[in-house]
Order: sequence, then C-alpha cells, then structure tokens
Amino acid sequence: RGAKDATDGVLAYHSGLESESLRRVGLAADLRRALDRDELEVHFQPKVELESGAVAGAEALVRWPHPTFGPVPPGELIAIAGSTGQLGQLTDQVLEEALKRSAEWAGPDGPLPMAVNLSPRTLADGGFPARVAEVLGRHGVPAARLTFEITEDDVVADGSRLIPVLDRLHEMGVRLSVDDFGTGYSSLGYLRRLPVQEIKIDLSFVQGMATDADDRAIVAAVLGLARHFAIDVVAEGIESHRTLEELRAMECEIGQGYYFSRPLPPDRFRTWLETQGDGGAGGTRLRAV
Ligand code: C2E
Ligand code: MG
Ligand code: MG
Ligand code: MG
Repeated sequence: RGAKDATDGVLAYHSGLESESLRRVGLAADLRRALDRDELEVHFQPKVELESGAVAGAEALVRWPHPTFGPVPPGELIAIAGSTGQLGQLTDQVLEEALKRSAEWAGPDGPLPMAVNLSPRTLADGGFPARVAEVLGRHGVPAARLTFEITEDDVVADGSRLIPVLDRLHEMGVRLSVDDFGTGYSSLGYLRRLPVQEIKIDLSFVQGMATDADDRAIVAAVLGLARHFAIDVVAEGIESHRTLEELRAMECEIGQGYYFSRPLPPDRFRTWLETQGDGGAGGTRLRAV
C-alpha cells in the first residue's frame, strides 16, 4: 500500500486498508441513525442443562442488519460504538430488549434467566447500575435472573478498575460471568477478587475436545477449578453429539452451541422454546398462556 500525502488526493487509494476505513467511517455515520430508529436487533441463544436437556436460560446477542453492508459482525459493531461514544446507548437497547423477553418468556419459576454481554467501557460508566436496576424493576425481572458476560481479556485488563461497579451489581444480585474463559491470561487470581458466578469455557477448547487431548485436559482443569470456587460452568460452541456426550461424562452442567440452537430472532426463539417440552426433565419453560 503506497502512502501518499494529503496533497496527492486525486489519486484514489485502492489498498484493503483504505476500503476498510471507508467502511468504518460509513458504519460509524450510520450507527447514530440505526440507534435512533431502533434498527439494531437482538437474537437469543439458549443455555441448556446438559444432563436433562432443560433450558437454563438465554444469551442476548446484538445484530445489525445494515441495509447496504449486510450483517455487521458484533465485534466490529461494538468497536465502532465504543469509538464513537454510542456504546452506552447500544447496551441500553440490548438490555431493554433482553429483559423484556426474559419477562415475556417466563416459566413456572419466573422470568427466563437472561445473559447480556458487556464491554468494560460500559462498566466504567458509574450510572450503569442504576439504569440496570430501573430496567429490571420496570420488567419485573429479579436481579438474580440477569447475568452479565464479560470476556476474560477485559476482566484481566480492567478488573481492578471495574471492581466498584462489579461489586455494586453483585450487591444488587446480578450474576457475573467470565466469557471466552481460557483464551486470556495465565493468572487466575482474579477469580478470588471478583464476584464471579459463572465461567464460559471458550468454544475453541470445546470444539477441540473431540480430537485433541490437550483441549480435553484444559476443559477438565477448568471444570475442577470451577468446582473448587463453586462457580457454574457453561461450555460454549457445542456443535456435535459427541462433544455433548464427552461434556456430560465430565459432569459439565450447562452448554450452548449450534447443536442445540443458533442464536435466533425473538419469534423463532419463542417457537424453539415451545418445542422443548418433551425433551427433558425440565419440560417447557413457558408458562401456559
Ligand atoms: P460471545 O459472547 O462469546 O458469544 C458467542 C459467539 O459464538 C456468538 O457470536 C455466537 O453466535 C457464537 N456461537 C454460539 N454457538 C456456537 C457454535 O456452536 N459454534 C460456533 N462456531 N459459534 C457459536 P456472535 O453473535 O457473532 O457474537 C460475537 C461476540 O460479540 C460475542 O461473543 C460477544 O463478545 C460480542 N457481543 C455480541 N453481542 C453483544 C452485545 O450486545 N454487547 C457486547 N458488548 N458484546 C456483544
Ligand atoms: Mg457471551
Ligand atoms: Mg464466548
Ligand atoms: Mg467470543
């Protein structure tokens, strides 16, 4: 990619870098509109109890079907929202939709447990816990039915800075989950310092289990660690029956993955939930309407 100075602007750039930044500038400009017009969507993927097959909850995953660029990958969307100061609004919209659905999809024992992904930038906002309390209250969802997932990298990089807000959320009764566990850092000391109730074993290890003894050893070690700390474990990225059986044999309790369901738009997720009635001991979670 040949660097040209600003005076040379007549010559078009054709490097991949250039079209990438054009895309970014275009998306950043469009995101304002998308947020104001409620064009972002939220899809839902179940968390499943591996032994019984019962639905343990759902994870909310943001989607942006851009009219010309097509679906924007969530990672890219979050990065843009972060750099343009729009992440707070994005998170608020996802949380709103997630808790609305949690209440709507209540089962016999209350609202469907719901997980929402957070970026450290959101937790740096001191007003966040109060907004969470407001949305929970408005939808009548008990705090213990809400889990925030934060990737291990973010927890390790920002952990100490985030402790006050994490502690406040914990005091409210909200659960904290460490996402993509195992991909981050070698020190696990933060598990003692932070109010963590769940870890999600990164899908790279889960998918490797079928063929790789190293990955199986890592999964087994994480399960042992979690048992010690009395932390729940979710295996993410289960795509095959074989992986499911291995995880069951290792007494991993909860899983997520395409084997059960891809993330689905709300109407299809509801339909999926309704078909879970005869699958396992838990039965359908939906209250009869
Ligand atoms: P994550 O929280 O670790 O979510 C899991 C990702 O793996 C999702 O990708 C999901 O669609 C995908 N996945 C689930 N099961 C399987 C499987 O069996 N096989 C494979 N190959 N993939 C599977 P997605 O939806 O593209 O999200 C990517 C990441 O973007 C998420 O990773 C999360 O870190 C972030 N993200 C998504 N929504 C939000 C949001 O509302 N806020 C924030 N801050 N981050 C979000
Ligand atoms: Mg997640
Ligand atoms: Mg993950
Ligand atoms: Mg991930």
